Amino acid sequence: MVSYIGSILVLAIGFILASKGRAEVNIKWFGTSNIIIADETNAIAFDPFFTRPNLLQLLSKSHIPSRQAFVDEVLAKGKVKQIEAIFVSHSHYDHVLDLATLGSRFGSQLIVDANARSYALSLGYDKVNIIQQKAFEQHQFGQFKVTVLPSQHAPHLSCKVFLNGKSESPFPQKPNVLDFRALESYAYLIEHPHITVFFSPSSLGDLGEMFPDAFPSVDIVIVSIASRMSTDHLLNSLVLPLQPKFIVPVHHDNMFRSLNRGLSFSNLVDVDEFLQSSEDSLANARLVFPEYFSALSF
Ligand SMILES: [Zn+2]
Repeated sequence: MVSYIGSILVLAIGFILASKGRAEVNIKWFGTSNIIIADETNAIAFDPFFTRPNLLQLLSKSHIPSRQAFVDEVLAKGKVKQIEAIFVSHSHYDHVLDLATLGSRFGSQLIVDANARSYALSLGYDKVNIIQQKAFEQHQFGQFKVTVLPSQHAPHLSCKVFLNGKSESPFPQKPNVLDFRALESYAYLIEHPHITVFFSPSSLGDLGEMFPDAFPSVDIVIVSIASRMSTDHLLNSLVLPLQPKFIVPVHHDNMFRSLNRGLSFSNLVDVDEFLQSSEDSLANARLVFPEYFSALSF
């Protein structure tokens, strides 16, 4: 375990240094599948989740509010100055909790499913700035072109996905964890003149369905490794057929702990097994484990 984690850190640090000085597109990770991709003029965010309720708040079904002050603190730490659009892959609390808070800060357009839409509306978000997300639609922000792709949520346990379906309408004013439900799941192709990124936040999907004509040429795959069916299944179904140069695993961190306390791995995600199982099958792809707040630059 120790040697594997040691090699991860070397990879991440070595990669960032190697790229310094020719930064065109930055990818910043804020834990789970909460990422912000930016070039010099535009930024787009995915799955905003900065306020991390602790386990007790979740288990006691307490109200889990998004915390504006904390979100601002984290954005300052990550040097985030603007966000044109926010996409939500699915509406579980750990992908959507800070949607309206982040969006209000920058006047962002929200591109989300019906559940996330009613959550944002319940917090007073202007409906004019909310777009209902649909598979295969494309959205352009500056030089970023984002294609929404049909995906599925990997089961949490055996065949079951917890908290599925339509949220209560109107969305509860003081929601607890059970009020956040996954209605639809999406993946994304993010094309920019400098790089092409495939992002799969929900760990399950069919590339043939996403790309019926031909697979795109992808530089980076960002993939959630939480709730994966198996490492082999995940790599063979969603990652390796795209022949990426870099693979960035996410959603392996302990999401019940504040971002300010630093990165620690989740007890529920077997990172060691992921590394051991993927070691021989990555071909020419490099595995890059991100760190909180710091940018991977391409
Ligand atoms: Zn989920």
